[in-house]
Amino acid sequence: MPERLFVCTPSKLAAYEDCPRRYRYSYVDRPAPAKGPAWAHNSLGASVHTALRSWYALSPDKRQPEVLVRLLRATWVSEGYRDGEQERAAFARALAWLEHYIGGLDPLDEPVGVERVVAVKTATLALSGRVDRIDRRGDELVIVDYKTGRAGLSDDDARGSRALALYAYSAERVFRRRCRRVELHHLPTETVSAHEHTEESLARHLSRAEAAARDIVAAERAVADGDDPDQAFPTAPGSLCSWCDFRRTCPAGAEAPTREPWAGVLRDG
Ligand code: SF4
Repeated sequence: MPERLFVCTPSKLAAYEDCPRRYRYSYVDRPAPAKGPAWAHNSLGASVHTALRSWYALSPDKRQPEVLVRLLRATWVSEGYRDGEQERAAFARALAWLEHYIGGLDPLDEPVGVERVVAVKTATLALSGRVDRIDRRGDELVIVDYKTGRAGLSDDDARGSRALALYAYSAERVFRRRCRRVELHHLPTETVSAHEHTEESLARHLSRAEAAARDIVAAERAVADGDDPDQAFPTAPGSLCSWCDFRRTCPAGAEAPTREPWAGVLRDG
């Protein structure tokens, strides 16, 4: 019998590669353990992403800076902030980021895709993912990923991102057009970190994704065959634990320093 394809997104694979136990809590255990409270930095990121999607949904003549405040307000996510004052400050910061960012865009440019799902099948994976933006530059496509975190990013981040590489791999096949350049647009610092993939580097990322998928399938089978789930999906304690949604469930998470839900939006860290 042929093996079934492993259905996944880059974030599902990343959850396993970051920490097998976190993967288990998210995708295997049912009912899934309760998550901790919402994070303000996730709310902020989601709000900015949605405002940019709404901006591109307008006709080009309406893509003006004045509409941003309305777009941002319409889909603003309030969860996770300490209080109204902190949330208002975050709103003002997000609006300033957006104003600067769209100041560098041509309203007449129509991306090939905005929050576009690209899906492909490989020998072992049924892979899909939602790309923030796919631009066409000359004869090629470019993957654009918006970032709103506190920390600045480097070209190494763009090079090492499995998600961006898998998006490029998928977009090239979906649109039948070369797609090798991936970009991280960090709105707070107004910087772009980029990497130009080769066929070989995309193949390397894909083969690591397929290896992760094989490990996941093997761990799930081991549990189905009666192995201890805690051993099949071990913890991987590290700096991510403080930010993990399952730190209250996970024994390793209890050891990690506690972060307030709004810690990720504090400017002084
Ligand atoms: S708290 Fe740490 S070890 Fe536990 S699931 Fe989360 S990331 Fe993994």
